[in-house]
Order: sequence, then C-alpha cells, then structure tokens
Amino acid sequence: MNYDELVQKAIEMTKMSYVPYSHFHVGAALLDKNGKIWTGCNIENATYGATNCAERTAIFKAVSEGVRDFEAIAIVGGPEGADGSPVLEEFCPPCGICRQVLSEFCSKDFKIILANKKGEQKLFTLAELLPESFSLK
Ligand SMILES: [Zn+2]
Repeated sequence: MNYDELVQKAIEMTKMSYVPYSHFHVGAALLDKNGKIWTGCNIENATYGATNCAERTAIFKAVSEGVRDFEAIAIVGGPEGADGSPVLEEFCPPCGICRQVLSEFCSKDFKIILANKKGEQKLFTLAELLPESFSLK
C-alpha cells in the first residue's frame, strides 16, 4: 500500500503544533478502516506533564467520534529551523505512551510509517515497536 497521502497529511500537521517550550514539531495522520484520515499535532503545556503528543491527539479525535478500527499511522517530526518552520530530516518514532495507547485500539499488524521530508519512509508493525504490550483483553 502507498502511504504517501498519509505522510503528506502528517507533514502538513507539523505546522499546527503548539510547541513554545521544545520547539519540536510533530504531526500524525491516522487512517481508519473506512479510509478516513484523522490528523493530530503535538500540543505542549506550561506544566510539561500535560503535553499531548501528535499521535494521541489523532487517535483521541477519532475515538471521541466513535471510530475504533485503524489501519495505519504516519508520523513525522523535527526541531524548528531558523525560519520557524520544522526541519523534518530525521525519523521521529512514537514515544512509549503513544505506543501503549495505539495498542489499546490497534492490532499487532497495525502499520506505523515513519517519514521525513527527504521522501524516506520506514514501515513497522505495532508488534515490532511494542512487543509484549500490556493488555487486559
Ligand atoms: Zn507520544
């Protein structure tokens, strides 16, 4: 499957990041099983602990609208450049909390696409990035 559209939406979302503390922009685009794309950006907070990641912003938007079945997520991120726009040259893997939240709603073969502005992509399954995850199911 071609994830270019998903990656493009994730790149666009880095412009929406609210990152006055870290100046590190992250965008995510989550594809549900009906083909709809849910987007998210990271949203920081002065307390730091109340910060929300781009991946969780996207999945919480979808779940809060009744959607719980997902195919894939594209994630991009990087620091702010001198002109204030994000430099997206490296891959930006999801943090541990986001991996756990994804595991609540996504199967082990759910696809995680890491991308950059150089056009490179790395494809993982959720099981690869979070083996032996905690679950009550
Ligand atoms: Zn995270």
